[in-house]
Amino acid sequence: MQSDESARQGSRIDPWLGHYAQRAAGMVASEVRALFAVASRPEVVSLAGGMPNVSALPMDSVAALMAELVTERGAVALQYGSAQGDPGLRETICQVMAAEGIDARPDDVVVTVGSQQALDLVTRVFVDPGDTVVTEAPTYVTAIGVFAAYQADVVQVAMDEDGVDPQALAEAFARLARAGRPAKLFYTVPTFQNPAGVTLSERRRPQVLEVCRRAGVLVLEDNPYGLLHLDRGEPMRALRADAPGDVVYLGSFSKTLAPGLRVGWALAPAAVRDKLVLAAESAMLSHSVFNQLAVDRYLRTQPWRTQLKEYREMYRERRDTMLGALEQHMPDGVSWTRPGGGFFVWVTLPEGLDSKAMLPRAIQSRVAYVPGTGFYADGGGRREMRLSYCFPPPERIRDGVRRLADVITAELRLRDTFGG
Ligand code: PMP
Repeated sequence: MQSDESARQGSRIDPWLGHYAQRAAGMVASEVRALFAVASRPEVVSLAGGMPNVSALPMDSVAALMAELVTERGAVALQYGSAQGDPGLRETICQVMAAEGIDARPDDVVVTVGSQQALDLVTRVFVDPGDTVVTEAPTYVTAIGVFAAYQADVVQVAMDEDGVDPQALAEAFARLARAGRPAKLFYTVPTFQNPAGVTLSERRRPQVLEVCRRAGVLVLEDNPYGLLHLDRGEPMRALRADAPGDVVYLGSFSKTLAPGLRVGWALAPAAVRDKLVLAAESAMLSHSVFNQLAVDRYLRTQPWRTQLKEYREMYRERRDTMLGALEQHMPDGVSWTRPGGGFFVWVTLPEGLDSKAMLPRAIQSRVAYVPGTGFYADGGGRREMRLSYCFPPPERIRDGVRRLADVITAELRLRDTFGG
């Protein structure tokens, strides 16, 4: 607690220190963001960030369609628009979601500034300070950031290679209800999860939905990677496809097209949708109409399914390179997941190693990753780390994994010499 005097004077570093709302205390830089500066030095192989490789896009076609957009529809594209988003784009979004078995009406779609804003708006609409949000363990780091910013308590339920265990989820809901703090939301990335690269199995999907329905917990399905399936011919069926009234679904063009356009969306039951539109209005009045129309034009005029296939081929090669290099170079006792899509591999280190403490040594050896702790609300995950294969080309991935394996081997030697 600050004294009145120091609150009045603030600190020399920040004169407004005593003035912030309590919720600002929950706003801390994500571990991923803190890493960006070092990891982007050219000599460092960054297996840290989750940046899609947008240079694979047909830039000339994108430039041409943007120029046409200004010439043909400039007066609309450069004007304010509605907070719900462009009706034509919402129609196109419904066609995109149909690939995952979702039957949706454009009226129930709310366009957002990336799916990150959708996550923020859903939390704003549902979560009061002190409410409980249940997530997978580990979970998307910036979702933890959003929940913290709204002063929620985050409770995490472990996953195995088939995703979250429905039984463990049911037990967590029951425990929370008994303790008088029932879960408000179950936030899940069921397909090609960030960070663990794990997918909720087909068998477990209806079970998870049933557990949430029985407990009266709204499912928040975050699915930016669903169309980046690397082994299956078809995308996974979304949770939303089988439970339209119980799921708010979040989608994004960040991984399938380009994150710089910042176009994502929420698909919600009608009453929830109305709240989200109101929340969007107060958050930003109107989206970039230009970006929405550019995405819509791209999807309507370009062979985006072929482009997506090329993205998948590129990411498959990178994933296979990473898994092959891990197999070849990692010392005994290191284990990792085998993602069927998306961008990430989750690595678990042997007993006695600490991925966060090891990071400066890794960076010195010119390789970066994200330590596991950021993906847990309670500081767990010290032996874990996230590696991404989306951005560096295959030969850099191979070098990066080899360097990382050398660092881990050296740490193990230290552990065995001086004790864990
Ligand atoms: N959810 C998950 C699971 C993600 O990995 C990301 C991006 N890293 C987002 C949401 C946010 O994506 P965007 O706002 O670019 O749509």
